[in-house]
Amino acid sequence: MTIPNKWHKEVDVVCVGYGAAGASAAITAYDNKASVLIIEKMPESGGNTRVSTGGFICPTDVNEAITYIKGLFQLSRSEMDEDLVRVYAEESIKNVDWLKGLKEGTEVMAYGHAGYPNVPGAKSIVKYGAKGTGKGPTGSAKNLWDIFMYAVEQKRKIPVMLNTPAKRLVQNCDGEIIGVVAESNGKEFNVLARKAVILTTGGYEYDEKALQNFLKGYPIYALGNPGNTGDGVRMASAVGAGLWHMNGASCPLGIKVPDYEGAFPLVIGTPGFIYVDKHGKRFVNERSIELHAGLLAVDYFDDHSLEYPRIPCYLIFDETNRLKGPVSAWAGVGYTAQKFYKWSKDNSAEIDKGWIVKAGTPVELAGKIGIDPANLDATLSKWNEDIKSGKGDTVYGRQMRSMPESNPAYNDLQTPLWSAPIDKAPFYAVQLYPCLLNTQGGPRRNTNAQIVDPFGQAIPRLYSSGELGSMWGLIYQGAGNIAECMIFGRIAGRQAAALKPWEK
Ligand SMILES: Cc1cc2nc3c(=O)[nH]c(=O)nc-3n(C[C@H](O)[C@H](O)[C@H](O)COP(=O)(O)OP(=O)(O)OC[C@H]3O[C@@H](n4cnc5c(N)ncnc54)[C@H](O)[C@@H]3O)c2cc1C
Repeated sequence: MTIPNKWHKEVDVVCVGYGAAGASAAITAYDNKASVLIIEKMPESGGNTRVSTGGFICPTDVNEAITYIKGLFQLSRSEMDEDLVRVYAEESIKNVDWLKGLKEGTEVMAYGHAGYPNVPGAKSIVKYGAKGTGKGPTGSAKNLWDIFMYAVEQKRKIPVMLNTPAKRLVQNCDGEIIGVVAESNGKEFNVLARKAVILTTGGYEYDEKALQNFLKGYPIYALGNPGNTGDGVRMASAVGAGLWHMNGASCPLGIKVPDYEGAFPLVIGTPGFIYVDKHGKRFVNERSIELHAGLLAVDYFDDHSLEYPRIPCYLIFDETNRLKGPVSAWAGVGYTAQKFYKWSKDNSAEIDKGWIVKAGTPVELAGKIGIDPANLDATLSKWNEDIKSGKGDTVYGRQMRSMPESNPAYNDLQTPLWSAPIDKAPFYAVQLYPCLLNTQGGPRRNTNAQIVDPFGQAIPRLYSSGELGSMWGLIYQGAGNIAECMIFGRIAGRQAAALKPWEK
């Protein structure tokens, strides 16, 4: 591999990518006496982290958390590295205290729990967000990123180069990673890393070829940072990394319109809606889809009709429910919603734009979106009959309320209504696609956060953290990714800083 003739900069540790993983690694390497440089491809820092909902897990008990995470792997049959799960659990319980230590006055709030509450150990999982001036669905991510920027740029004055994409890793004849070839201002910019390179480039959400190769379902869009194009996967592969968890993705359903590169998340607050496939038929209990697992609900390929009948699928609702709030109720979450477009409160602007299709009857609606009118009409009739009869959904068993009415514990509670009729004209349809929060796959790492080859041997002086080569597989616990950024960022930073510089 060619070693550059000229190095434009020399530091102990280079972090490639400036999201939560890069920030956590840089902070820790710096605190362990290494000189650090962060290079970031985009004009702005933060990656997916900045446009996320900013949650991170910090379990209450290590052994319970291990039981829970192992339980998810047993269900998904994704490859599990037991040692990595143990380290994840041991380190994750430090997350709240560590974050608080980054900036005086930092406070956090618990906001959620295990995504799969029936899996043993689930009670130990607690999701936290950072408090601060940021409020609403995007508040925690803003607050979290403010803390990271403060800790990196103000408190430690770690240099950050924006608009500086890494192009390849430099490997010497001993197999050690000794630097990075990047680009800055249209010119090659070579950084020598005396101790190590830490790859924190995020996933391959916007790499269409990788999506076609590794994930089932087409098309798949993304909600986050367009800079996440799988560069780290390719750079690590080129120096011999083994890949894993390439079929793992955190992927809800969302709304993709041609006007923007990134999609909008679908989080519908109203009870009167269903999803139908391309044939106008329901295919799922809409309320049962775990937020991060939307892709798994729609990636069925029909080998008779030779199509993905659920991509796109359609969100169907009526006038009563249109007026109950935006169908992208996570206003401001994700790259496009945060930077470019505010969804209207009553969905009227999106109807005017044609993103939401409107019609006087179900049959007319089906005609407009090109699905079988008789099927859609029958589907809606059955839904309305079930819901109005008080029996509830007899087809997929969707609950009438968020808590089962059969459980006496909830008798006195006002639990949110989850199902309601869809019978007041006009009627509406929106195309839904799988829209990634993030991919999980990438170069495999060990418990020291070293990137390893396909035989498990560490590639010397190469580390990683974050969603690039995540520990998570097919089934993912929400808020587990940002937690992982912190965990393996700390480990990578510590390990990299402890190395002796390579022999020149
Ligand atoms: C809408 C949304 C909500 C989410 N909510 C949550 C949540 O609440 N909790 C949770 O745990 N996870 C959540 N996620 C997922 C989570 O945000 C990410 O998995 C996590 O932030 C990844 O952090 P990271 O540092 O690994 O990558 P990122 O934060 O994406 O940072 C990677 C950075 O590397 C840069 N980069 C890429 N290639 C190069 C290159 N060649 N050279 C230099 N830089 C490069 C990218 O531009 C980017 O800035 C959410 C994601 C989205 C999109």
